Parts: sequence; structure tokens; C-alpha cells
Amino acid sequence: MKTAREWNDWRWQVEQARRGAEIAGLDGSASPPDFPIAVTPYYWSLVDPRDPRDPIRRMVVPSGDERPPSRAVREDPIEEERHAVMPGLIRRYPDRALLLVHGECPVHCRHCTRRALGRGKVVPIRGADLDRALAYVAAHPEIRDVILSGGDPLLLEDDAITGIVARVRSIPSVDIIRIGTKVPAALPARVTEALARSLAAHGPLYVNTQFNHPRELNEDAAAAVARFVDAGIPVANQAVLLAGVNDDPEVMEALCRRLVALRVRPYYLFACDLVAGAERFRVPLARATAIMAHLRGRIGGLGIPTLVVDLPGGLGKVPIGPSYVAEIRGGTYVLRAPNGELVEYPDAEE
Ligand SMILES: *Cc1c(COP(=O)(O)O)cnc(C)c1O
Repeated sequence: MKTAREWNDWRWQVEQARRGAEIAGLDGSASPPDFPIAVTPYYWSLVDPRDPRDPIRRMVVPSGDERPPSRAVREDPIEEERHAVMPGLIRRYPDRALLLVHGECPVHCRHCTRRALGRGKVVPIRGADLDRALAYVAAHPEIRDVILSGGDPLLLEDDAITGIVARVRSIPSVDIIRIGTKVPAALPARVTEALARSLAAHGPLYVNTQFNHPRELNEDAAAAVARFVDAGIPVANQAVLLAGVNDDPEVMEALCRRLVALRVRPYYLFACDLVAGAERFRVPLARATAIMAHLRGRIGGLGIPTLVVDLPGGLGKVPIGPSYVAEIRGGTYVLRAPNGELVEYPDAEE
């Protein structure tokens, strides 16, 4: 039996997460060998056991249709390998570099873009490789923004992650550091005041979380987020639009409202990548843009994320609307108001 002390110990939660199938009440055969079930007992506690269509369960439990070969999906959907400058360092934009600093996550999201994680193919950068990657960033002063990802960087111990952040900070040409993490949602006990304080000491640093459903934003998650924000770390959210989880205008509105109320800026809403095994999560873009239109008419701009597709081929993220430009007629733009009315807007002359 677990004790309260264990429950609040993030290392215990991470150890247990590897027994994902058992935690989810499934036998081992339900756990695909290439990407086994992993879930912290904490995250599993958010599941409503009486609801067979529970959105949290849907994000962590595989379904029988996880491996249909299809032309649309890929092993490495955004071709990160092609954009790897060296192992563990991905660069797709002149001013940004992404470092894979850890190889594991507190949960295996079934919609994960880096499913290669499960095959041990996301190799965290460390030692001499890390030295080389940082030397590369220092030698390319056009890189102003360094993103730490993985795996989840916050599964590293405080001194390890703070050490990496401090080394990136010591590169004079780097303006900002970002950490991409599922930890506030899946393992809020990991976000201690000490961690928040030592990361903030090497700011400007942003934390990007991944909350996909308002139920993930309980009191524990709210407290975790508050520890970052109170320490001076701005928090933004990168949600993934997932069929059967949050592809509902009311659910998305509730998620965005709760995020801003907790001082988390909704940043991106990703159309699900073309990940092999995650096709059941895909949402038609027409419906995705309709959800965005629902938000635009109802909540303040601070609570509205940008709907983006991460382009196949690794060519970057692009916003996909909805467009409020109904027509361009000579020097006049015909714009659509949130209530659907069309309004003529005379354009400025060049
Ligand atoms: C998403 C991503 C970024 C950051 O993109 P933003 O639009 O600035 O948030 C940077 N590098 C890589 C490789 C990425 O995938």
C-alpha cells in the first residue's frame, strides 16, 4: 500500500509510472512493446473509473487500433531526424534550437509525436554531446531562443536541469530559454518551490506546459503552475487537439478559461501530428477551425491559442485560421465579424 509520503514523492510516482499497464488495471499484453503504457499513479487518479470514455484514460491507454499502417502517418512525423544538427539538437529555424535533454516522460501520451521515445530512440544529450551542442549554440549567435525538451526535462534532478539551464544562460547570444514539460499536468509534486526558484535564477526562462483537458487543472496542478509564476517564470500552454478528449467547443472553452485564470497563457493548439498509432485522435481541420471560431466569439484574446499544424517535412508550424477575411475586393477587405456579419474595411493605399 502506498503511503501519503510516497504519493507526494515525485520519484516514487516516476518509478510507479513504468508499471503503467498494472496501474491502469490492464494486463501486460495491453501495453505495446514499442511504446509501453506509462502513467503516474497521480495522473491515473484523475480518471473517472465509471466513465468508459474518460478523456484522461483515452490519452494514456492504447486502443486496439493503434497500429494500422496508413499512408498518412509516419514514424517521425515532423522529420526531426532530418533537422538534427547532431544527436539531441534539432534546428528548424535560424533563431531557435531545441535540445533533447531527457529520454523519459512521466506519462506516455498515446498521441506523442516522439513515439520513438518508447524504443529508446530519443537519446538524451549529455556529457561530451552536450558540450558539443552548447558549443554549436555559442558558435551560432543567431540562435536567440533555446528550447529544452525530451522526454521531459523536469524529470532530471534539480541540479542536473539547473546545471543545463545555467550553461545555456552563460552563452551571451541566447536571449530566452524555454522548457517544454508535461510535469505540471502529470506530476505536479515535482514542481517544488526550490526547483522554481533555481530555474528562475537563470531567466528569462519560460515554461511551456501541455494541458489538454480542464480536468487536468485540479488544485495540485494549479499549485504547481502557481509556483512557477510566483517565482517569475511565465507559463504558456501547448495543447493538442484530440478527438474524444477536447474536440468540443465547450471543453476547449473551459480549458482556455481555466488556464488564463491560473495565469497560464494558451499559446498553441496543435492539430495532432501524423503519428503512427494516433490516428484515432485526428480531428478534421474544418472542425478545428470551428472550435477556434467558437472561442473567438466568447472569450478574451488572452485566452485564445493559435491553432497550428506542424508541417510534415519539418518545415515549421503554421497557423490555420479560421480566416476572418471573407473576400478582398479591389482596395476593400470584406471581414467577417465574430457574429458572422460581413463588414467592409477600406485598405490603406501603398
Ligand atoms: C516548435 C519548435 C520550435 C519553437 O517554435 P515556436 O513557434 O517558436 O514556439 C523550435 N524548434 C523546433 C525544432 C520546434 O519543433
